[in-house]
Amino acid sequence: KVRTRFAPSPTGKVHIGNIRVAIYNWLFARHNGGEFVLRVEDTDIERSTPEAIQAMLDAMDWLGFDIDGEPLYQTTRQQAHLAAAERLLEKGLAYKEDKGGTGQGECVIFKMPGTNVTFVDGIKGKMTKKAENMQDFVIVRSNGTPVFHLANVLDDIEQGITHVIRGDDHVENTFRHIALYEALGADVPHFAHLPMIVNRQGKPYSKRDGDAFVGDFRENGYTADALFNYLALLGWSPGDDREVMTREEIVEAFTLERCQSSPAQFDMKKLGWMNGEYLQKLSDAEFETLAFAELNKAGVEADPDYVKSVIALIRDRVKNIIEIVPMTGYFFTEDFEYDEKGVRKKLQKEGVADTLSRVKEIFQSLDVFDEASTDKALHDFVEESGLGFGAVMAPTRLAVSGVQSGPDLFPLLAVLGRERVIERMDRTIE
Ligand code: GLU
Repeated sequence: KVRTRFAPSPTGKVHIGNIRVAIYNWLFARHNGGEFVLRVEDTDIERSTPEAIQAMLDAMDWLGFDIDGEPLYQTTRQQAHLAAAERLLEKGLAYKEDKGGTGQGECVIFKMPGTNVTFVDGIKGKMTKKAENMQDFVIVRSNGTPVFHLANVLDDIEQGITHVIRGDDHVENTFRHIALYEALGADVPHFAHLPMIVNRQGKPYSKRDGDAFVGDFRENGYTADALFNYLALLGWSPGDDREVMTREEIVEAFTLERCQSSPAQFDMKKLGWMNGEYLQKLSDAEFETLAFAELNKAGVEADPDYVKSVIALIRDRVKNIIEIVPMTGYFFTEDFEYDEKGVRKKLQKEGVADTLSRVKEIFQSLDVFDEASTDKALHDFVEESGLGFGAVMAPTRLAVSGVQSGPDLFPLLAVLGRERVIERMDRTIE
């Protein structure tokens, strides 16, 4: 039975490169009806604080991972690691060395077998390292603590891991790890190494390139499903042109063979697009809940029905829920700003004040003020005045919203309502 794991070294912030490794392990396990477990490699006592571990668990929780069994904390395994080192010493597969004769104690060194190491990587294919290019390595430090290689291999054995899927920064380690598995008499798992996530220059993607940690994306309004979907596609494809996929669809399609062996370039624009797709897929009620939460956070106070009509009006223009506050500013205050360039080009032009005065009178004279009536009235006015369509609509929009683009003008007027519209037009005409 397939069993994969995510084995992060918690440092407080979860990099998208790490979480993508978790995603691929999870997908591989679920696709194969296997299990996905968690191991917290918390041996770096200074960085692996309870807060750092919690941040990691929160990130996984937010992204909706289901984890089988209880997490294994590597620090609880120290005695087992040291006992294994003892066994290797007894069998003559490791030896002690007093490094530099400092008298600080002896470290335990694993003896490489002196043969080439070969494995078939699930993504990269056959990998070989020559015996002469590999050296013996430390497995227990002189202060008595086990080194990563020993702990990592023993814990994978303990957790019954069948497939180790990890970043390709670990390829060199894998050759050593295979030698260790063999020395320990354990089955060697399958390995697959994922290429890194890179920036536009092809360098490892880091926080200097933009949002790089799961928490950043969460704070910046991305939905967990969109981020999950985007990261799943960053280095893997279903083999057809599907992009927005449900989790079930991704699980169904996921294989290591379809993972690319070249680095994957992080593309914020594409993530932004995908996030928009996810937002659009939400029901009106779900979207409203998110939007209300954002507006509340920003301190917006208004009649809930009015807020609802504003949300409905702009919903299909929103790619990220945090845009909702700046996008709707002019609906909730009279103190909104006017786009300077628009004012110069469209409002301060000869004759515009007259046009707006006419439009205002027309609005005042309407029996009902709604989308259909304003639409008809302004179209009639365009026709009889001989003014261009833009010459009427553009200044009207600017006068009532302060900006040059936004939702369609007539539904916009209807949502704002006659009173606001007239007041704002008055202010601009003055
Ligand atoms: N703690 C190691 C890391 O985060 C684990 C590597 C592995 O997956 O084996 O890089």
